[in-house]
Amino acid sequence: MTEMPHPRGKLTSGRPLSDLTWLRVGGPADWLFQPADHEDLAAFLRDLDPSVAVFTMGVGSNLIVRDGGLRAVVIRMGRGFNSITIEGGRVTAGAAALDAHVARKAAQAGVDLTFLRTIPGAIGGAVRMNAGCYGTYVADAFVEAQAVTRGGETVTLRADDLNFRYRQTDLPEGWVITQATFEGRTGDPEDLDRRMADQLARRDATQPTKERSAGSTFRNPAGFSSTGRDDDVHDLKAWKVIDDAGMRGASRGGAQMSEKHSNFLINKGGATATDLEGLGEEVRKKVFQTSGIELEWEIMRIGDPG
Ligand SMILES: Cc1cc2nc3c(=O)[nH]c(=O)nc-3n(C[C@H](O)[C@H](O)[C@H](O)COP(=O)(O)OP(=O)(O)OC[C@H]3O[C@@H](n4cnc5c(N)ncnc54)[C@H](O)[C@@H]3O)c2cc1C
Repeated sequence: MTEMPHPRGKLTSGRPLSDLTWLRVGGPADWLFQPADHEDLAAFLRDLDPSVAVFTMGVGSNLIVRDGGLRAVVIRMGRGFNSITIEGGRVTAGAAALDAHVARKAAQAGVDLTFLRTIPGAIGGAVRMNAGCYGTYVADAFVEAQAVTRGGETVTLRADDLNFRYRQTDLPEGWVITQATFEGRTGDPEDLDRRMADQLARRDATQPTKERSAGSTFRNPAGFSSTGRDDDVHDLKAWKVIDDAGMRGASRGGAQMSEKHSNFLINKGGATATDLEGLGEEVRKKVFQTSGIELEWEIMRIGDPG
């Protein structure tokens, strides 16, 4: 058995991951590491056998962990990585700071990062996924990020290194984002507050925000871009092609394509990862049969089948 380093943070073997994800499914990770701080994380990665796989998770709002779990060290950051500092219009947030919290603190200081308010993840996941909504993406506000490489070295990443695209970046495997700096337009705190309240209300009206989901299940399929931006190419709507295939409300075990928003896969209670992924694959098949469109998963699926 591989000898593990002895960090100051918490290292647990055979830790179930289901309670750490929004969908509440998934088997155990070989190891879960919760680093105490940046130095602890860097030393751990430096000392960890290079053959051991590393997977960093945020708050699991874009993940299906399969029922067999993960043969890897899962890194999950908490206290020690959730500071938020604001200086001259620039907001620097730790990887574990929640997007909503960052948006609210920025708004109080008159900095517009309102697009982060309704995204339920944390900052590391937001950068990795180029998260965004209502037409603004992390790429639009990104200044730089700090990361620890798989070998334990601390590096600064600029936009060119990450190559932001629609819901994806080129972050190398095993690298861990520890903090990111953003710059937003200035705005009146009360106006920014009002905009965030509007966005929350819009979400509640159109999405199953009270259900267990992982947000949009599939990327919007590529169509015509009026601006030429990669982000805007995806102007066909996944929910529309799912509706056209008759899959709104379809279910398997405890998994369902939401009646409220057909691109949201939800755990109605007691779903397994196999139910959720199986239903998603059934939707992809039906959509392909009816429209010839091959939907691509936006939710990341990781780990071994049960
Ligand atoms: C109700 C709901 C609504 C949503 N709406 C939106 C939306 O409007 N727009 C949008 O973009 N997304 C949306 N999402 C999806 C999700 O919230 C985002 O993708 C979010 O950025 C994921 O963050 P997370 O912390 O949960 O990351 P996780 O789901 O834990 O991980 C996602 C990916 O990021 C990587 N990652 C996480 N943290 C780090 C880190 N520190 N270093 C390196 N890699 C890391 C993981 O390895 C994984 O590849 C929604 C989800 C839900 C449940």
